[in-house]
Amino acid sequence: MTLPGGPLPDGPAGAPPVLDVRQVTKVYGDGDATVHALRGVSLILERGDYVAIMGASGSGKSTLMNILGCLDVPSAGSYLVDGTDVGSLDDRQLAVLRNRKIGFVFQSFNLIPRMSALANVELPLAYGGVSASTRRERALAALDQVGLADRTHHDPNELSGGQQQRVAVARALVTAPSLLLADEPTGNLDTKSTADVLQILDRLSDMGRTIVLITHEDDVALHAKRVIRLVDGLIVEDRRQAPVDGPPPRLSRVGP
Ligand code: ADP
Ligand code: MG
Repeated sequence: MTLPGGPLPDGPAGAPPVLDVRQVTKVYGDGDATVHALRGVSLILERGDYVAIMGASGSGKSTLMNILGCLDVPSAGSYLVDGTDVGSLDDRQLAVLRNRKIGFVFQSFNLIPRMSALANVELPLAYGGVSASTRRERALAALDQVGLADRTHHDPNELSGGQQQRVAVARALVTAPSLLLADEPTGNLDTKSTADVLQILDRLSDMGRTIVLITHEDDVALHAKRVIRLVDGLIVEDRRQAPVDGPPPRLSRVGP
């Protein structure tokens, strides 16, 4: 793993997929209380993929998200991020991988109160030995990307929910992660702010970012290029779709 500094280079041709999930299971509890939250999930995500993971409450979405984000470990099966087998890493290596390769966006924003938007966005860079001036420069660029260049010195409580979530997206982006993982990112937002955040994700996808979006809302999932549906800890559907804000379909000039 390389540390610290600039954006990760794009892998060479034939580079491993961003995510390679192989027959992952997750069992909670034991005896009568055993819950099979994931029953054997396999999934490959290539660079630039934009996936919505859908499913009813209790279907295993958060369990899968926690494993993809290296916040939890599977009971069985293996999981590779950019070709690195996560199961082979110790806690410190795992923390580094999480910091460098994965950007998280949560439903509840999870910004640090009484810290400016800029300071919040700089935070993930504090662990990578990046100089203060570079941290500032990259945080400002990330805030600019989410349309908040004029709000850098505001604390979270001086920002609307939608603006706070955009700060959270900037914070997730600032390390140039291989994967952006968003768990119900619009779940606490009004219609307008939801549209703003989805537009940002769409643009990031157009720029080649790899995004996993967990949602139970059909109109949110419409933005993704690929929809994966979980039922009782199993993938029951995995399909590609034309994203809603993608280029308009080519009009046929043939026929009446
Ligand atoms: P979703 O996010 O789709 O609602 P979860 O991944 O949270 O689903 O949960 C999947 C199943 O695993 C549910 O039956 C849930 O009750 C169970 N579960 C989740 N976390 C735990 C835990 N820490 N201990 C025991 N059971 C859990
Ligand atoms: Mg959940």
